[in-house]
Amino acid sequence: MAPVPLNASADSPQRAAASARFYDLIVVGAGGVGSAAAYHAARSGRRVLLLEQFAVGHTRGSSHGGSRIIRYTHDSPGPAGQMPATFQLWHELERESRARLLQLTGGLYMARQEDTWLAGCQATLEELDFAHHVLDADDLRRAFPQFNVPDGWRALYQANTGILSATHCVEVMVAQAQQHGAEVRAETPALAVQPDGEGVTVQLASGESVRGSRAILAAGPWSGRFLAELLDFGVPLRVTQQQVAYYTVQDPAAYAVGTFPIFITALEDHLYGFPIWERAGSIKVALEQTARTVDPDGPRAVDDDLLARLSARVATYLPGADPAPVHVEPCLYTETPTRDFVIDRHPHHPQIVIAAGFSGRGFKHTIAVGKLLVDLAFSDAGVYGGPFWQDSYRITRFAQTQTPAV
Ligand SMILES: Cc1cc2nc3c(=O)[nH]c(=O)nc-3n(C[C@H](O)[C@H](O)[C@H](O)COP(=O)(O)OP(=O)(O)OC[C@H]3O[C@@H](n4cnc5c(N)ncnc54)[C@H](O)[C@@H]3O)c2cc1C
Repeated sequence: MAPVPLNASADSPQRAAASARFYDLIVVGAGGVGSAAAYHAARSGRRVLLLEQFAVGHTRGSSHGGSRIIRYTHDSPGPAGQMPATFQLWHELERESRARLLQLTGGLYMARQEDTWLAGCQATLEELDFAHHVLDADDLRRAFPQFNVPDGWRALYQANTGILSATHCVEVMVAQAQQHGAEVRAETPALAVQPDGEGVTVQLASGESVRGSRAILAAGPWSGRFLAELLDFGVPLRVTQQQVAYYTVQDPAAYAVGTFPIFITALEDHLYGFPIWERAGSIKVALEQTARTVDPDGPRAVDDDLLARLSARVATYLPGADPAPVHVEPCLYTETPTRDFVIDRHPHHPQIVIAAGFSGRGFKHTIAVGKLLVDLAFSDAGVYGGPFWQDSYRITRFAQTQTPAV
């Protein structure tokens, strides 16, 4: 099939002809997760329909923007151990698409001496034999004078840390899915996903229904609505508004890729940031805020309190940056209580596979999660032991703590 424009409308002539088709897989949601699933499924020869309620690459969900961190450094061996293979999958996609998606920058992970997260990261790097350097406060000041380092801090430096260009990754995965024959319908909201014998029917807001053998639900912040309809237990997902801000630096050369690493701190709401990448002369910095829950369809106003807190941290820890932001961008997290993802087959209808709750850390994994989702959709139960699987993903973890609804 010839690729159609990414954002072709729901009722174009190509669509009318296609609506009678029966698909191997229908994917709901073209964020990072859904587009990766569509890409892997189409690449393996499945007939795929990818549905997106807005335009591909839109800015209302979680996967837009010019930078997401990808890193080997984690505080437990489960996710860390997957990272070499995950980097490989991103590089494979780069080779196949001839697009540049991943820029290595090196990563600096900083905290107080006694911090348990940093100790966990160090233990994991050692256990997995990932090369790294340990720096005390004086080493840090010498190597990275861009930071105002308090006494009693220490850090880990790990080279396999970099930037994924998020919107570009999504667009490339969708385009590659199309190259492999997937049909992509933008501006096409799905209203309901229902088991239909051994297959699925997806009802669209247009009134049309589409049918397939399997469905993958990857609706990001909108997942709760589908899950409430599909499950007899609740999945506690919280949608929170986050925001990133860009600050001009006095000496751009000191904050360039190759000189200034990605940094993550265990302090002050996990202050983190990037070298100059998206906007000439300014660095992107953010705090993780978990308090403010929002309606994904609601307005995206800048949170002034959060911005004031962030700018105060910039003034304290990054003295070379002007603490008046030049740009602010809101975005949504969909969080589970432990921040473990939800990736599983529906407990009673295994033809429906659910992916939700990527808890502000999912983008780096999307290329691997897409592969896992396709394996869960089409392989035997044994896939639960595959290289990208973790037991903490199971959706039934929430059923065990609740009385099932009648
Ligand atoms: C500010 C910020 C910084 C982050 N930093 C990092 C980072 O450094 N590293 C990292 O790994 N991760 C990071 N993340 C997290 C990461 O971006 C997310 O975990 C990931 O993008 C989630 O992707 P998703 O596909 O689940 O959700 P989304 O990208 O929101 O995609 C869901 C899609 O489903 C569509 N949809 C929903 N309902 C329907 C429907 N009914 N019909 C059709 N389509 C529908 C939506 O429109 C949307 O396009 C960050 C997130 C934010 C917000």
